Amino acid sequence: MLSLKSLRQRWFLTGALILASTVAQALELPKENRVPGGIAIIPLQGLNSNIAPSAWYKGNRVMVLPSAETAFADQSKWIAVAGIPLSAKADQKQHLRADATSFYFQVDDKEYKAQYLTIKNKRHVEPDPEDVKRWRREKAKMVAAYKSWSEPSIPATRFELPAKGPFSSPFGLKRFFNKQPRNPHSGLDIAAPQDAPITAPAAGTVVDTGNYFFNGNTVIVDHGFGLTTMYCHMSRIDVKIGDKVTTGDQLGAIGKTGRVTGPHLHWSVSLNNTRVDPILFLNK
Ligand SMILES: [Zn+2]
Repeated sequence: MLSLKSLRQRWFLTGALILASTVAQALELPKENRVPGGIAIIPLQGLNSNIAPSAWYKGNRVMVLPSAETAFADQSKWIAVAGIPLSAKADQKQHLRADATSFYFQVDDKEYKAQYLTIKNKRHVEPDPEDVKRWRREKAKMVAAYKSWSEPSIPATRFELPAKGPFSSPFGLKRFFNKQPRNPHSGLDIAAPQDAPITAPAAGTVVDTGNYFFNGNTVIVDHGFGLTTMYCHMSRIDVKIGDKVTTGDQLGAIGKTGRVTGPHLHWSVSLNNTRVDPILFLNK
């Protein structure tokens, strides 16, 4: 039979474990992978102010989080969580600046596969000069949204899936449209039926919506500290700029607007204005 003392100890232990797991979940970091299109987590050793240092990488502001309750707690007070561009090279030392201190890191090569797609709308492969002008204007608007900076009290560092369906094209594929080389695949494609719901993967604020030449109906959500997500090819947009959303709120519906071969969600994740592999943020 259990004594009162051992019962109390059990209660105490269970309570402590629940608390520890709640805290760990709240600050669960994305998966680190120092490759082009991946993420580097840099302990900002020597920067011990109570105010978060301001970190920059390739001209873009970088997410900085307290390291308490993470695996980096005994290495530094703050960590930088930086998105690495697909164009990063293994033989070039990467430079991140935090306040007045320089931090350097290396990336490993990653060979992404090639994908060949056939697009019926020829203008989506060889755009008219007018299309190119339109796309440049749209690109500038999207980059402004990627560069959003907000500081919510709970930073989003993990995502639920925004749509139900199989992953039809992974991030990073080298792409050929009608046999012509184009930019690499900057997101994850999820195949889902026309008009199926697309939901917010974490809390955030809608910072851009539009109907774009390549991306079709598009929504961009700012999750704070330089982390944004983008939803493309939607049949319908159900939110407007300035809307606050929480995990599971409907953003719109699956469609085939823009440059597509069929209905799907193109989901991209951007950290410090750098498109990274969304898989690194998924809970499962
Ligand atoms: Zn895509």
